Amino acid sequence: MTRTTPPRPLDVAAVFPELGAHTTTATRLHPRPGAPAVTDSSIGGPLLWPAGEPWPVCDADDHDDPVPLPTPMIPVAQVYRHDAPDFAGPPGTDVLQVLWCPLDHLDEGYNPLVRVFWRRAADVTRVLAEPPSPAEVHEEYVPAPCVVHPERVREYDYIGSLPGDLAARVRERFGSRYQYDLSLAPGWKLGGFANWSLTDPLPMDCEACGAPMTLLFTAASSEGPASWQPVEDAPVTPTGVVIGRGYSLYVFGCPASFEHPVATAMQ
Ligand SMILES: [Zn+2]
Ligand SMILES: [Zn+2]
Repeated sequence: MTRTTPPRPLDVAAVFPELGAHTTTATRLHPRPGAPAVTDSSIGGPLLWPAGEPWPVCDADDHDDPVPLPTPMIPVAQVYRHDAPDFAGPPGTDVLQVLWCPLDHLDEGYNPLVRVFWRRAADVTRVLAEPPSPAEVHEEYVPAPCVVHPERVREYDYIGSLPGDLAARVRERFGSRYQYDLSLAPGWKLGGFANWSLTDPLPMDCEACGAPMTLLFTAASSEGPASWQPVEDAPVTPTGVVIGRGYSLYVFGCPASFEHPVATAMQ
């Protein structure tokens, strides 16, 4: 079944054409509890992981509580290119895999440690049958297996990321509606913009090359305000994941190289 976000109550770009320079698309994933296979896009589902490739482990030393090292990571998301128009991986790849260490990391702001992998499905001739699982997890970081129902939507950048004069006029005209109903899709998504509701925009610069990073993927505690609930159904917390006190974990990638590490921000 498809999932359909209702049209925005009004078109902000019709009121402020300058917003046309601050727009992009996002693919809302609309996870719903199910039984995804390795050949499916999923949240918390099994990954198309090659039998011969080591499973990612976390050997970080910044865990909130001491844990046995190394800790196997867990599948968070798998997105096939054909399911998501905003898939933006290296040429030739057609699967994005997101894993994380499901424990609090001090250096990550008490959040999971995220890694992403891009691969070509046809390269995986034999799938790892039984990935290792961690001995300890924070249950709130373990997504319930969900199938996804991708849908592309248009977004406009966070108000604090707009040029000052434009931001002032948008704020005067729309107030907080701009942030909550008119500009940024909540929930699990690929691409789009971050909603910097906690801190206002932080510089997200690549640790390897310094380039400003762009939003790759969002893991969310909820599917957001009522105006964004799809017309077909509206579970608010389909995956059971909780980030902080109900926030989102934004995963940023470097536009200069897919080899450079991702970075995260909780908002
Ligand atoms: Zn860890
Ligand atoms: Zn970089």
